[in-house]
Parts: sequence; C-alpha cells; structure tokens
Amino acid sequence: MKKYNSLQEIQKDIKEGEISCKSLVNHYLSNIKDSKNLNAFLEVYASEALQAADAIDIKITNGTAGRLAGMVIGIKDVLCYKDHGLSSSSKILEGFKSQFTASAIQKLIDEDVIIIGRQNCDEFAMGSSNESSAFGAVLNAANNSHVPGGSSGGSAVAVQANLCLASLGTDTGGSVRQPASFCGIIGLKPTYSRISRYGLAAYASSFDTIGILARSIEDTALLLEIMAGKDDFDSTVSQKEVPAYSKKLSFKKKLKIGYFEAGVADGLQPEVKEKTLQAIEKLKTEGHDLQSFQFDLIDHILPTYYILTTAESSSNFSRYDGIRFGYRTENSTDLESLYKKSRSEGFGKEVKKRIMLGTFVLSAGYYDAYYTKAQKMRRLIQEETNRLLSDFDFLILPTSPTTAFELGANSEDSLAMYLADIFTVQASLCGIPGISIPNGEDKKGLPIGLQILGKSFDESELLAFSKYYLSLK
Ligand code: GLN
Repeated sequence: MKKYNSLQEIQKDIKEGEISCKSLVNHYLSNIKDSKNLNAFLEVYASEALQAADAIDIKITNGTAGRLAGMVIGIKDVLCYKDHGLSSSSKILEGFKSQFTASAIQKLIDEDVIIIGRQNCDEFAMGSSNESSAFGAVLNAANNSHVPGGSSGGSAVAVQANLCLASLGTDTGGSVRQPASFCGIIGLKPTYSRISRYGLAAYASSFDTIGILARSIEDTALLLEIMAGKDDFDSTVSQKEVPAYSKKLSFKKKLKIGYFEAGVADGLQPEVKEKTLQAIEKLKTEGHDLQSFQFDLIDHILPTYYILTTAESSSNFSRYDGIRFGYRTENSTDLESLYKKSRSEGFGKEVKKRIMLGTFVLSAGYYDAYYTKAQKMRRLIQEETNRLLSDFDFLILPTSPTTAFELGANSEDSLAMYLADIFTVQASLCGIPGISIPNGEDKKGLPIGLQILGKSFDESELLAFSKYYLSLK
C-alpha cells in the first residue's frame, strides 16, 4: 500500500475502491510490527481497530460515515480512553485503566476516527527526548541512534514512520512542536483552552494543551476543528466559536513578520541557523515584510517555565499516593510509609526531581522569592509577547536550536536538556498558538523545524500561512 500523507488521499482511494478502512488498518498494523524497535507504541489495539474499521467500512457504503472515516490515529499515553490502559509512561500508574474518555478523543470517535494504540512518551510528559519513559526510549526513525524529541516522542515517530496517519500529543512547554521538528512532521500547539483538557492526565494545568502531530496541514486543521470548543466537563475551555479551520486554508495576503534575532544567531547548530535564514529570505522574496526583533526577557523564559510547571506538577501529582491509582508498594509498615514508598518506587528520577523542586518553590519560606516572582515574570513575558504580536502578524523562529541529538547525549545534564525547549516555552507561558513545520534537514539527514507563533485564537491564519509556506519552492 502507498504511503498516505493526508486523509483526503485516503478518502479518495476508499471512494474509488482502491482500499478499505480495514486494509488500511492492516497496513498500519504491519508497519507497527515491522518497526517494533522504534518503541513508539506502548499498546496496540489491533483487534479493536480492525473491528472499528469493519464498522466504518459499512457506514461508508451506507453513506452514514463521519468526517474522519479513514483517519487512523494513535494517542499519547496521557490521554484517557475508557477501559483502556493509561500509564503516563510511569510505573506509578501500573495496571490503571481509564474510567472515561477524554472529551477531545470522544469528539474524534464521534466522527469515526480509528484509534490504533497508545503511544510512548516521557514520564508524565516531563522531558524533551522521550528518554524518561519507564518503558524505554523511543528511537528517531530518521536515525535510530538519535532521540525523537519529547515528550510526545512516540506520537511523533508513529507519524514519521507511517505507523498511523496522525497522533494526539500534549504540549506543556513544547512537547508537540519539538518532537514534530525532530521527526520532520507538522506539530500544532493550539491556544491554551482551545481544546478541552478533560481526560488529560495533568502535568502543569495552566500550560497543558492537547496538540496534533500530522503529515498535512489539512489533517491538522480538520482534527483541530473537531476537537476544539465547548465542553461541559472542562470549565476552563474557551467558549469561543470554532472556525471551520479546514475550509479556510487559502492564503493570499502580504504580511509583516517578526523573526527572532536569537533564532538566527551563532550559538545555534549552523544548519538550523542557515535554514531559518533561508526561510526568512524566501518570505522576503514573496513580498512579505520581515523584520527582526529582540526579546530582552529571553534569559527569564526557562527559569519562569521550570518554576511554574514544577510547582503545578508537585500539586497535581499529590494524587498519586499508592492508594487511589496504580502502583502500591509491598513494603509498607504504616500509612505514611505506604505513601512514601509507593511514590519513591513508582516515580522515575526526572519526575521526583521536579516534584521536589516544585514543592520547594511553593514552600512557605520561598514562595515569594520563587513562585510569586515567576508569576510576575510570566505576566511580563506575556505582555511583551502580545506587544510584539500587535506589531507583527506572526513571529518566526526555529523550533529547536539543534536537530535531534544522540540518545544519552543530554541525559546527565538537565540544563542542556532544558535548553532544548528555549524556543518553545515562550508560547506556552503566553498561551498563544504555535506550529512547527518541516524546514529542511541537516548534513546527517535529520529534520529541522520552523516555528510560527500567532495571536491567541488565530489558528485559522496560522494554519493557512503554514500551508502557504510549505507550498513555496
Ligand atoms: N520538555 C519540556 C518539559 O520537560 C516540555 C514538556 C511538555 O511540553 N510536556 O517540561
């Protein structure tokens, strides 16, 4: 079977009788089997996916199929899917099964999506390389000795290696955009609150966003269109009208675009700098007005992000107590030791480090010095970013300062690992939408991503512009 890049192509071939949902699912299942070494999936729902495919094939014949008939996706292992395992790639959720389905996933199921399995990620989505998973690293399909990025590493590789057409990931500080960039695919982090978080195992609640990894802008737009919007189960979700993103993809305007000076500076991997400069030149040649901007608060971005997200996670993760979910120690002597040992044995190193850091910055003596200060800094970063976005239509910068690094390269150096997020966390602190699109390769053939940031709830323009950019020669 040929390699499909969009649902449109699939639906055309289904219509012409070339393929069926069932043959398509069989195709992806055999790819998954052949690519087991990539470790992208933690669990494959083979028989269920085939059953769903049969049912949808009948609906197609009867003319009653939903808009996603023919779309086969995988879901990051932090999203609840009723009666299916959910581990957040952590030992602490061992044996846990979801009691309900995330609203975003339910909306896709209602349109006849097929879910082929749940995907490996960094433990509780904390990481930039997928190496913190309790179930082993995921390998980049472009070069197996390199990481896929993280935390939605399995979700990105599954799309990269043609194990499904699209994936749902989550992006708290870059976890959809950075792996998309490392794997040469599209990754969209929508505006915070655009998609319901109901059924998303929380990492840092004021940052967490469900995002999309796909091979085409059309698919990204359609999935967003279906998942976005009101949800009675999430009071924080935006009530704003959801545009028909997939029908608004044509683009003709001339824009004023800001490019981040630090995104074309010498500290970057030379090929990343070069490709970003080429993108800028390309857009200039097309008649857009490109101007550089500086962001004086850049040094504060990562500390602010890591103070606030660890604080929120230390609070969120108090629920994993060895009693309510998953793993429970066998070695407790009393209630307190049950809590302590279950958590010590269940959580991995990175998660423990962040819980401790978060508890520290929230502790009485340090709250004002760290947490309150970081909140104030977040506000300043938001105000400055919004000021830039009132001046420019979009901001562009690389998704990551490097291409996918080698497995183990940053494992012993947290700071080096956290620096992989230097260009993605700004959008997360501000809640604005960001997309990573493929922008060439380095000398080793590893993909490079271009990141485009837009105004809150401006996904329509962002997607249309991305499609236009990708169509430029
Ligand atoms: N790499 C970042 C972190 O470790 C982002 C993770 C994410 O977006 N989930 O926090």
